[in-house]
Amino acid sequence: MQDTNLRGSCLCGGVVYKVAVLDPQMAHCHCSMCRKFHGAAFATYGSVKREDFSWLQGQQLLQEFVADNQTTRTFCKKCGSSLTFAPSGDTGEEVEIALATLDSEIAGRPSAHIFTEYKANWHQISDDCAKFMRGRDSQINSD
Ligand SMILES: [Zn+2]
Ligand SMILES: [Zn+2]
Repeated sequence: MQDTNLRGSCLCGGVVYKVAVLDPQMAHCHCSMCRKFHGAAFATYGSVKREDFSWLQGQQLLQEFVADNQTTRTFCKKCGSSLTFAPSGDTGEEVEIALATLDSEIAGRPSAHIFTEYKANWHQISDDCAKFMRGRDSQINSD
């Protein structure tokens, strides 16, 4: 089942985007950069093909933060909402969206915890999703 025709927005409502088709593979990322950027135990991302993603309004509010490892995070400069992520050397073929900014409900569910090596020690993972020390192709974390 594929989630289609979704909308998302930032906290202040200034930025609105549209997703035509959401990739069914979604993950919770526990890396320290996602934790800090989101101010949360982890960040949840879904991917969208570039041609399936569009900003509907508020592009003038978008600000990019490029980290030391050349990953790029886009956020709303008015309210601070994290909106998209791009890896270093991004080809631009896909857009990673911060799933919690979706306003539409989705049928799909995240299937993995990634970068659990960097997980906050006060957070306990208590679901059945696969746990990976780093990316999805890395060692499974059996803790
Ligand atoms: Zn905003
Ligand atoms: Zn991360």
